[in-house]
Amino acid sequence: MGKKIKQIAIYGKGGIGKSTTASNISAALARAGYRVMQVGCDPKSDSTNTLRGGKYIPTVLDTLREKPRVQPDEVIFKGFGGVYCVEAGGPAPGVGCAGRGIITAVQLLKQLHVFEDLDLDIVIYDVLGDVVCGGFAVPIREGIAEHVFTVCSADFMAIYAANNLFKGIKKYSRSGGALLGGLIANSVNAPYAREIIDDFVQRTRTRVMAYIPRSVTVTQSELQGKTTIEAAPESEQARIYTDLARRIAEHEDSREPFPLEIKELREWAAGWADHLLALERGEIRSLAAGI
Ligand code: ADP
Ligand code: MG
Repeated sequence: MGKKIKQIAIYGKGGIGKSTTASNISAALARAGYRVMQVGCDPKSDSTNTLRGGKYIPTVLDTLREKPRVQPDEVIFKGFGGVYCVEAGGPAPGVGCAGRGIITAVQLLKQLHVFEDLDLDIVIYDVLGDVVCGGFAVPIREGIAEHVFTVCSADFMAIYAANNLFKGIKKYSRSGGALLGGLIANSVNAPYAREIIDDFVQRTRTRVMAYIPRSVTVTQSELQGKTTIEAAPESEQARIYTDLARRIAEHEDSREPFPLEIKELREWAAGWADHLLALERGEIRSLAAGI
């Protein structure tokens, strides 16, 4: 038998930075010599754009709609550093289940034996995670991905989505489902943002894999149709993505998370609202700011 392929899934609410983070991880891993595939599982089908010069690739669902039999090179496209790029695609808006693309893409990749034939080390699924739909749970439920990471900011809606994801993981964790690797904190610049994330992570008994600042380098790279690893390899932001990629490649220890009940989550958020107000009024000082 061949080597074990590491399969990970990156979940998070829409627009939180999943594709940006996933693509930079893929690019950094490829640069470090790993054989990587990134599977975009968001109906937006733009997961792999910055690995491919800003261009869209045909999706698995669209290609299969045109013909029942497809060849690997009709749905798998090489991007930066040799990263294999796949977009699952989605149904027409308002029609059918958005998780359909994931199910179909995973089935097709299995049928075509691409994981073995391409001798992959790591497969990264980039999954829109705030939709409560069975299809989106497939990588978790079926144990397709072994480790799940969530991209999350300090915004309540992002944390709410992460907490929902934790509920999903917990539900299937005793029946061979994926486990939680940790949280990737994105767009955390303010000290209080870090404190909020740290507090949430502590309460749900998980960990932070990386703190990624919001950076104009990312915006500039995206406008050039590139990952930051490609466009600004010497930048501080590229170093942060490279460190995260290394941590993920070496990561083994995923666990069952402890999501908060909705009432607890609301109370927790209200507590932070009071705390932030007091901070703003200068009544208390931030711990992390050290001032
Ligand atoms: P998602 O895949 O979760 O929907 P994207 O990765 O497409 O989100 O990111 C949404 C937008 O936010 C993009 O324009 C992206 O460039 C930007 N973005 C994400 N992370 C950062 C960051 N750390 N710094 C600056 N811009 C970011
Ligand atoms: Mg995306």
